Amino acid sequence: MVLNVNRYVCGYCGACVAVCPHCVLELVETWLEIGSGCTECGTCVKICPVGALSLDEVKA
Ligand code: SF4
Ligand code: SF4
Repeated sequence: MVLNVNRYVCGYCGACVAVCPHCVLELVETWLEIGSGCTECGTCVKICPVGALSLDEVKA
């Protein structure tokens, strides 16, 4: 599985950045960067208030 972000839906609230236990996510100005080290724990997917994150079979 791979984490994808829908950048047209993301509101850049930073909630996912704060909850990731491995500091994979970073807000760079108005762009959510997905770095390396994701363990597919799904915590960020659950916390996102607008459903912009998803764990999928393939990289979007
Ligand atoms: S799935 Fe888990 S490890 Fe991966 S970016 Fe989200 S919170 Fe971090
Ligand atoms: S929690 Fe959702 S809306 Fe907020 S920065 Fe992360 S992906 Fe974007």
